[in-house]
Amino acid sequence: MKITDARVFVGGPKKNYVTLKIMTDQGVYGLGDATLNNRETLPAAYLRDYLIPALIGMDPRNSEDIWQFLYRGAYFRGGPIAMAAYGAIDMALWDIKGKLANMPLYQLFGGKSREGAMVYAHATGADLPDLMDSISHYVEQGYKAVRVQCGIPGMPSASYAVPEEKGEGKHYITDFSGVRPKVETWDTGPYMRYMPGALAEIRARFGPELHILHDVHHRLTPREAAEFAKAVEPVGLYWLEDPTPAEDQEALKLIRQHSTTPIAIGEVFNSAWQCNKLIEQELIDYIRVAVTYAGGITPVKRIVDLAGMHHVKTGFHGAPSHSPLCMAAQAHINAWAPNFGIQEYLVLGTPECDALFPSEHRMENGMVYVSDAPGLGVDFDEAEAKKYSFSPGSHPVVRLTDGTLWNY
Ligand SMILES: [Mg+2]
Repeated sequence: MKITDARVFVGGPKKNYVTLKIMTDQGVYGLGDATLNNRETLPAAYLRDYLIPALIGMDPRNSEDIWQFLYRGAYFRGGPIAMAAYGAIDMALWDIKGKLANMPLYQLFGGKSREGAMVYAHATGADLPDLMDSISHYVEQGYKAVRVQCGIPGMPSASYAVPEEKGEGKHYITDFSGVRPKVETWDTGPYMRYMPGALAEIRARFGPELHILHDVHHRLTPREAAEFAKAVEPVGLYWLEDPTPAEDQEALKLIRQHSTTPIAIGEVFNSAWQCNKLIEQELIDYIRVAVTYAGGITPVKRIVDLAGMHHVKTGFHGAPSHSPLCMAAQAHINAWAPNFGIQEYLVLGTPECDALFPSEHRMENGMVYVSDAPGLGVDFDEAEAKKYSFSPGSHPVVRLTDGTLWNY
């Protein structure tokens, strides 16, 4: 069996999904997601110019050897652009494998450990009452877990993932007006003084059963993060996400020494080598990698297995930048993984998105139920894809009140 051709598509409804389609001499094809948010043309070019020509003629069933060829075979290893491209290839090869076996991927991993996988929604508010309304909206829809972010009194502009105006239904972080980022202002003092009390009010309002998650988005120093994690202990958070910038892994030790608040990290990691020490030293409780960014199903399954040996559960990234293909790959791992924790989930199911990526995966009452179709269980409608093209976008950058650039 041979790979005969592969094509890359960039575009989607209000998104720049990077979709890879690998064709074979037996008519079976595989699909993968290489979407690297706000840098989408780069993994697409890497695939087209360097990787696809090398894949032609290879046996697509040898997904492990092909992954090693891509990663170990490269002199300059890793990085988000390369790993997203490898992630798409690996996903597509697993899709082919599942279709050849006539089995959904979770069966190839070891079958189902659960019927439905719990997800969490994003509740946001310009202020606390606005956030309470947003949480209620998701609780009424049956969600058991909600990530909560709200505007901070005294903060000069909207902070991370918070709508600028009250009552705004949705907040898209990517600004499609171009590649020049907007500027947000961050002020740690008001945040540290306000947010622990706001989280306590949310707990009091919604009771002990709701899983409350909060994302710090790398904004605190290790000492501040330790103080914050300690201050919110009575709230009983499901997790505190990205308290400090991910590259300083020693920071997690300080937080651990001072607090029992569960810590989740890893959405910007693109290698198992960025996960292994945090997992082995048991400095985190949830590992947040995404199948696309971390290089595909093959390396992420290894991360999940290592995590399982150290009481670390999964909490895969599920930002709107991940296409339904990445979310499907994660849904299959979530159905199987004995150490599954939770899945981030933003409503992707617009009619336009469903038309581009038809599938039987479904979300109900805050749980995702995986499709039983062979492979990833998601198709790609190339006629629909012709409606879309690349549209440049950007994330904001963050500056402190005196203008100093800070962590986004
Ligand atoms: Mg996050």
